[in-house]
Amino acid sequence: MKAIKPHLLALPDYPYTARQALIKLDQNESPYGLPPELKAELAARLEALPLNRYPEMHAERLVERIADFEGWPASGVVVGPGSNTLIAALVTAALRVLDVQPSFVHYKHVADLLGTPYRAVPLEEGFKLPVEGLLAALEEAETPGVFFLPNPHTPTGAFFVPERVQVLCEAAARHDWLMVLDEAYYQFAPSDLKRQALGQPHLAVLRTFSKAWGLAGARAGYLLASDEAARVVRHLMPPFGVPAPTVLAVELALEHPGYVTEAVEKVRRERERVYLELKAHPSWTVYPSHTNFLLVRTPDAAAAFEGLLKRGILVRRQDHIPGLEGAIRVTIGTPVENDAFLQAAFELAKEEKEGEGAASED
Ligand code: PMP
Repeated sequence: MKAIKPHLLALPDYPYTARQALIKLDQNESPYGLPPELKAELAARLEALPLNRYPEMHAERLVERIADFEGWPASGVVVGPGSNTLIAALVTAALRVLDVQPSFVHYKHVADLLGTPYRAVPLEEGFKLPVEGLLAALEEAETPGVFFLPNPHTPTGAFFVPERVQVLCEAAARHDWLMVLDEAYYQFAPSDLKRQALGQPHLAVLRTFSKAWGLAGARAGYLLASDEAARVVRHLMPPFGVPAPTVLAVELALEHPGYVTEAVEKVRRERERVYLELKAHPSWTVYPSHTNFLLVRTPDAAAAFEGLLKRGILVRRQDHIPGLEGAIRVTIGTPVENDAFLQAAFELAKEEKEGEGAASED
C-alpha cells in the first residue's frame, strides 16, 4: 500500500492477544472495581448525562478535581483517555526517547510508530536501576529528549529507591531532558515521587485510574507536569477526547478515595501471601514485587501459560522479552482467584515431575 509510510506496514502488532478464561490475571487490573453503592450512584449520574452533547475540550472540570486531589496546579495537569494516550503525546513531542530494558512496551511501541530515536539501557543484575548507564545516555545523546522511568517497574515489579532515582532526576535537569516518572502502580509501593517533581520543570509524573482505582474500563490517566510541558501535551491530545461517562466515573471515584485504600490493602496482603506460597514451588522462581502483579520465572513459559489456561487461569507471557526467558506475569486477584492460581501452579509442578519420571523410565 503506497499511501502508507513503509515503516508502519512493517511494524509488529502490539504484544497482546485476548484469550477467554474464568480467572483473568493477565492485565494487572483491580479484581474489585467500584463498590456496589458507588456503581449505583454512577448509574444515576449517567442517566442524567446529556450524551448528545460533547464533553469539555480537555476535561477541565476533572482537571480541577485531580489538581485538588494531588495538590498540583491545574495548569500543569493533563487528563487523557488512558495514560497510554499521554505517553503517545509525550513521545510525539520528544526529540528522542530514553528508556530502560525491559520496560512498559508502549514507550518503544509509539517511538517505533513515529520513527523517534529510541534507546534503552538494560537493567542491572537483580532488576537494579542502571544508574551509571542512564547517566551516560543522558549525557551522550545528541539532543535531550523524554526519559520514561516506570516506578514501581513493570514488568518486573521492582521498586527503584528514591535516592537512586533522584540522581537521575538531577542529571535529567542538568542536561535539559524531560524525565517522566510513570507511577501507574505507585499505590502498591512504599513511597511516591510526586513531591520531588513539584516545581521541577524537568520532571513529570504519570498516573492512571486503571490499576488501584479499579477503573480500567473507564480509560483515564493523567500527567502532572510543568505548565509548559502540560501545555504542549494538551495541544497534542485530541479535543473533546475524554468521554463524558469516563469523567463522571472518575469524578465519583475521587469523591470516595477510601475504597481504593481498602482495595490496595487487600491486594498488598494477597501479593505477599501468593509470593510466600509460590516460593515453595519446586521449579518456578518468584520475584519480590511492589505492584499488583508477580513476575515468575518458569522452565517453559509456553507450558506454564497453557497449563494454567487449561485450568481456567489466564496470565501473561513475558518470555519474548530479552532477559525474561521463561517468565510469566500474574496479576494479584481476589483470594479465591489466587488460591486457584496457586493450586494450578503446584499441580503443574506435579505433572512436570511425573513427566520427568516417565521420561527417565523410557
Ligand atoms: N504505564 C504503565 C507502567 C502501565 O503498566 C500501564 C498499563 N499497563 C500504563 C501506563 C497504561 O495505563 P492506561 O492507559 O490504562 O492508563
